Amino acid sequence: MTTEAPSPTLGDVVAVLERMYDPSWARDWDAVGLVCGDPDTSVRRVLLAVDPAPSVIEEALAWRADLVITHHPLFLRPVHGIPTSTQKGRVIHQLVRGGCALYTAHTNADVAAPGVSDALARVLGLTDLVPLSADDADPTDKVVTFVPDAAVEKVIDALAAAGAGELGEYQRCAWTATGTGTFVQGSGPGPLVGMGEESEAAGAQHRADRAHDADREPGERESVEERRVEMVVPRHRRSAALAALRLAHPYADPSIDVLELAPWSGPRGIGRVGTLGTPTSLREFAMLVAEALPGTAQGVRVAGEPTSVVQRVAVCGGAGDSLFDAVRGSGADVFVTADLRHHPAAELRDRAGEGPPYLVDVAHWASEWPWLAGVANRLEGAMDELGRPIEVHVSTKTTDPWTFRLPSPGGVVR
Ligand SMILES: [Zn+2]
Repeated sequence: MTTEAPSPTLGDVVAVLERMYDPSWARDWDAVGLVCGDPDTSVRRVLLAVDPAPSVIEEALAWRADLVITHHPLFLRPVHGIPTSTQKGRVIHQLVRGGCALYTAHTNADVAAPGVSDALARVLGLTDLVPLSADDADPTDKVVTFVPDAAVEKVIDALAAAGAGELGEYQRCAWTATGTGTFVQGSGPGPLVGMGEESEAAGAQHRADRAHDADREPGERESVEERRVEMVVPRHRRSAALAALRLAHPYADPSIDVLELAPWSGPRGIGRVGTLGTPTSLREFAMLVAEALPGTAQGVRVAGEPTSVVQRVAVCGGAGDSLFDAVRGSGADVFVTADLRHHPAAELRDRAGEGPPYLVDVAHWASEWPWLAGVANRLEGAMDELGRPIEVHVSTKTTDPWTFRLPSPGGVVR
């Protein structure tokens, strides 16, 4: 006999999604998150798609999906109602009647690491990926304190438990160095020197013993060996980290420096730049793009001499023509993106002369579609880990609006 694992609620799934694609990463103009659905209902089946198009909603309802996750928002501009006389209103009514929720991860999924452009870069075989236009890293502090040797591990543990010391995949990162503190003994009780794990009372005794041993008088100079401990802390965890530090530190009034680190490029951002394993002709590279992406009527358009050699490649899922400065700055030989218009593309090529960067233009939908497989894997894996498994499918519907294309008779044929 087997016991079925309990299904997660929509709220559980959304919580996992928002760890992968934090809504706060979305651009100001964007509209991401839950569009419709009750967070308390259970979720067994999830369908992933680029667009919340009618064909995708039909597919979801036919499969009895409980949740559809799309890249593009259903609503980007405010509406005053959702009557079924509008196409978007019909979608909402169909979803609600079918008991199916809708969730959007748009520019927050574009900038995430891994995100939409990572997926595009990986299906093209690019490695050593960095953002094409990096976002600032999350605001971070560095906490510095000075601790007697015996208490160093305890203080580092306490700070780590409060969220300090996380660097990429590494946890409990700290840096220490030994030095000497000095002070002049006043007439009152001195600092609790070298107390370590001792209690307040034991510390007082220790202090008295030391004063006796050293026969130290008020006004005398004292030296103490201490370790300088440095750890990074997300700024939003500052209060919790400092409270934990004070609790774990043996001194009643420890010395603590909090340094606000200057903003710098983080791992997230729009687009990616990476490298092909071997230099390739622009024609061969365009063929590689055509084979790696799902089929569309548009196919792959290229600007540049077919025999030009490319190896460093910039990519941006979706419309990327606002990134041309970043592409030039990145040293990329070629830029793969979608929705390139005549004027920006012509201007970029005019500036480049015969040389790079060349342009490869693909269908918008095709450029973002590779992201869906990665979301399916990560979401299924995360829910399995929570003991709340779900079934995740990628939609089989093509939502690229273009249906056929004719070569232009009399055009330039290369
Ligand atoms: Zn898009």
